[in-house]
Amino acid sequence: MQQFDVIIIGAGPAGYVAAIRCAQSGLKTACVDKWLNQDGKPSPGGTCLNVGCIPSKALLESSALFDQVNNDYAAHGINCETVELDLATMMKRKNKIVTDLTSGISTLFSANKIKQFTGHAKLLKDKLVEIQLNGKTETIKGVSIILAPGSTPRELDNIKFNHTTIVDSSDALSFNKVPEKLGIIGSGVIGLELGSVWNRLGSEVTILEALPDFLPGADKKLARQALSLYKKQGLQFNFNALVKNVAPEKNKITVEFELKGENNKMVFDKLIVAVGRQANTLSICAEDTGLEIDKQGKIVVNEKCLTNLPRVYAIGDAVRGPMLAHKGSEEGIMVANIIAGHYAHLNYDTIPFVIYTHPEIAWCGLTEEQLKQNGTQYNSGQFSFAANGRARAAGQTHGFVKILADKKTDRILGVHILGEQASELIAQAVVAMEFNSSSEDLAMTLYAHPSLSESIHEAALDVNNQAIHKA
Ligand code: FAD
Ligand code: NAD
Repeated sequence: MQQFDVIIIGAGPAGYVAAIRCAQSGLKTACVDKWLNQDGKPSPGGTCLNVGCIPSKALLESSALFDQVNNDYAAHGINCETVELDLATMMKRKNKIVTDLTSGISTLFSANKIKQFTGHAKLLKDKLVEIQLNGKTETIKGVSIILAPGSTPRELDNIKFNHTTIVDSSDALSFNKVPEKLGIIGSGVIGLELGSVWNRLGSEVTILEALPDFLPGADKKLARQALSLYKKQGLQFNFNALVKNVAPEKNKITVEFELKGENNKMVFDKLIVAVGRQANTLSICAEDTGLEIDKQGKIVVNEKCLTNLPRVYAIGDAVRGPMLAHKGSEEGIMVANIIAGHYAHLNYDTIPFVIYTHPEIAWCGLTEEQLKQNGTQYNSGQFSFAANGRARAAGQTHGFVKILADKKTDRILGVHILGEQASELIAQAVVAMEFNSSSEDLAMTLYAHPSLSESIHEAALDVNNQAIHKA
């Protein structure tokens, strides 16, 4: 039987990063993953690389270009008479990015001498791992185990995926035709990102959201402004919508839902169900291992990602906390460092959240609503991109930067951005907060002109009412 210092189950951004860091520390490392591509070849990288972060961002980029040519170029004096969509080429480009990156993981595994196993892995007692592929079973043994099985789209009890008319996010990354009428259940991150892609490519998009509020976890003012921009782009929202029944036919689907006490009916070509994700823990371990799994199906871990079993760790989407690739990767590095005997720590308070719509939404730390709720006294500084020279030059003037700082210490407690390149700008906030910076630290920092980043500078100055370009 092959023996390893560490066996990692799952090669998503949590598992493959953990594997690389284990190997870098000189540990004999194996990583097992079951994902196969359309050719039946191993495709490490998990949800993120295969059907998540990367393919969705590829389509967001392509669809944004299509939208810009159609709607923004004329203002720059560029007239394009015939603009045609070649969806097959757009999809081919997206698929190539996925193949290049997933095969890149295999290259990294080889370079780091990580033994890559393909198949479904199950944790047995005594840190044995059983791997099954095509009816064959192999068992390997580890000194330490890292469980990183990730998650899959959550299915609603009354709306089962048929993958033709009722689809999940993976299906919605590979439509071969732009749906004329697209329904989406859930106005969360996936609903907004994939809704934006297909809206830009020509679909009439209707979103049905159960909650009364839009993005309840985001800054209230930011969410309000973003919602109004999305509506202008053509996305239609129904809040407090209770989907009661769906009737799929061959090429369309009728959705019955209750809105403000009234029954409504809409017919779509496709219905994306994007109501959250479920941890992949159903068959991750044999019952006699005694691994603790909570009611939501997540593996129970402490702050260092240790499960209730000695030397068995769990990371990524399968454990508590936000389901984000970078959170899983950092947990992977923390756990690998612990196994290698080093000090390790992860600051969960500075995880950035990004929604890759146009404009983008990004934040780090607490919102005003959360600060009020926990009774923290704070100062707030805000600056609009409309007053930023670079944003004006680019014609991307929507949104603002908001910085929240402790009233007494001036320490930055939260940064919220709606605007062009918010996903890039938020990194400054993460670094500042990781270093426990004050808003004055950012206010005293020198920024290149003209740049979108100057809005962060101005928002920091505004915390003490000293913004320069604000009337
Ligand atoms: P996964 O990426 O789910 O990987 C788990 C791996 O384990 C998979 O390869 C799976 O096949 C394998 N596995 C599971 N069980 C077993 C088993 N028993 N044996 C062997 N292998 C097994 N996050 C962001 O941070 N930014 C984004 O922009 C972003 N965009 C997204 C867009 C979409 C459409 C979706 C669906 C998700 C997106 N996410 C994004 C979320 C992100 O993809 C996940 O948070 C991330 O992939 C979780 O990483 P993970 O390693 O925990 O799990
Ligand atoms: P989500 O939790 O972001 O949003 C789900 C939405 O569906 C919520 O607004 C919820 O109220 C609504 N909902 C739930 N049940 C419903 C019902 N029965 N009817 C109507 N609405 C209902 O989940 P998601 O959009 O599916 O995304 C899943 C995960 O993937 C998220 O945790 C997210 O972190 C991750 N993700 C991240 C990114 C990113 O970082 N840019 C992009 C995509 C996905």
